[in-house]
Amino acid sequence: MAEVIRRADDGARAGRSTPHPSVARSGWRDRGETGRAGRCHTSGVDQETDVVVVGAGLAGLRCALELERAGLDVVVLEAADAVGGRIRTEEVDGFLLDRGFQLLNPAYPELEGVVDVPALGLQPFGAGVVALTDGAKHLRLGHPLHAPRLLGSTLLAGGRRPGELAAMLRWARPLSTPRRHRRLADVLAARPARTRREALDRVGADGVLRRVVERFLAGVLLEDDGSTADDYAQLLLWMFVRATPGLPRAGMAALPHQLAARLTRPVHLDTAAEVVSGRRVRAAGTTYAARAVVVATGAPDAATLLRTEVPGTRGVSTAWWSAPEPPPTHALLHVDARTEPGGPVVNCAVVSDAAPSYAPPGAHLVQASALLAPGRAAPEAELRRHAGEILGTDPSGWELLRRHDVVHALPAQPAPFSARRPVDLGAGHFVCGDHRDTASIQGALVSGRRAAAAVVDSLGPTPGLSPGRAPGRRAPR
Ligand SMILES: Cc1cc2nc3c(=O)[nH]c(=O)nc-3n(C[C@H](O)[C@H](O)[C@H](O)COP(=O)(O)OP(=O)(O)OC[C@H]3O[C@@H](n4cnc5c(N)ncnc54)[C@H](O)[C@@H]3O)c2cc1C
Repeated sequence: MAEVIRRADDGARAGRSTPHPSVARSGWRDRGETGRAGRCHTSGVDQETDVVVVGAGLAGLRCALELERAGLDVVVLEAADAVGGRIRTEEVDGFLLDRGFQLLNPAYPELEGVVDVPALGLQPFGAGVVALTDGAKHLRLGHPLHAPRLLGSTLLAGGRRPGELAAMLRWARPLSTPRRHRRLADVLAARPARTRREALDRVGADGVLRRVVERFLAGVLLEDDGSTADDYAQLLLWMFVRATPGLPRAGMAALPHQLAARLTRPVHLDTAAEVVSGRRVRAAGTTYAARAVVVATGAPDAATLLRTEVPGTRGVSTAWWSAPEPPPTHALLHVDARTEPGGPVVNCAVVSDAAPSYAPPGAHLVQASALLAPGRAAPEAELRRHAGEILGTDPSGWELLRRHDVVHALPAQPAPFSARRPVDLGAGHFVCGDHRDTASIQGALVSGRRAAAAVVDSLGPTPGLSPGRAPGRRAPR
């Protein structure tokens, strides 16, 4: 199995769309082979199983792993040519390019026991940001514990206007309140629902510190109008305070590949579910019958398949360039915190400074990300010019490697914030994905676990499953 997955990874990393032939495709198994045959005595059914999971992003993979651990027979259908969903990595001329710049925060609690983080070989970014401020000055702000070298400049920035520092501290108070047995989510939930902008206005925050925080969050939440629930923004900041995010040695795709490699049955690639009707799924000419169906696609596809409301999403464009000379920067994210930003870039970085494996020896990888509204993608020349300005370098020699426009990059998280949306829709239908929890890797993993638990609850005890059986092994049949 590990071999199968590794070959499929190779295809994805090389940008090829054809996986290894041993990766399952539609028609992989017929009715007689399931071992659960006889559960669904239905006509017009090509394959039977306990659970069909539609979508092999982090949520679907986590859900399938938990279901297998519970001894259930699981078929995972994936529309794309590789697993990972919104987490994919391409290899272009020796550079590793994730499909949209993103980082893994090792502080996410849900990684524990699910992801072997040390095996990913995380290459950390610096614990701070460099902000371009009015008067073309670069301000370096950092976490006092994780980036003590930045302490001086951070204090200097904070001390410019003491009132402003006090206001920002008031805003961030829930992060520092001793909680003992209370989770941060509970502390935040007890507060009135406010948007990020309302919360910052309320404490009287105004000035460069607020602009740095807002520009940084714009690149994480993918909105710059302050409309995200303040509780969610604080939760995210709390994660950034606890650890320094980084990039796996083999690219972000190493994360979903690690989960997929642990599945007993291979994922069916290039197999898009077209219709979910009752407990049946029609995909690529095959009808699957199951005792439960989990839709683990992104929010818009889930709405189409389950005929539910279409939720709001946020988009992002990321341009990747190779730079002949190392830009004079640090392994930190850069933002434009001027009163009037000089262009569309919400963050940029010399990625290879922090993650050397992302560029061939002697080469330098630069990324710039901008918000993507429907029908309004910033021209590459604009991204390049603005990124050069923020990094304080001449970008004319940069060579464009790829540009990724991800229209539905994140589900919106408006106020009031609801961290746990229902995963059991009734009638054998379940749903998971980051739109059910928080719009993040953490949220996708939590949602997959919750959906699996709901399926197991609804199906009741699995016949032939002995208590305490090791995860991932099949139930005796
Ligand atoms: C550019 C970008 C930057 C990000 N940055 C960060 C970050 O820094 N930190 C962070 O924590 N999170 C970040 N995220 C969010 C994080 O990547 C997602 O929250 C997470 O990957 C979502 O996983 P998912 O399984 O819920 O959905 P997805 O990854 O979208 O998986 C859904 C899967 O379903 C498949 N599918 C869809 N329709 C069908 C169908 N009909 N049949 C079969 N399969 C189907 C899709 O192909 C896909 O593989 C970022 C996302 C993007 C795009």
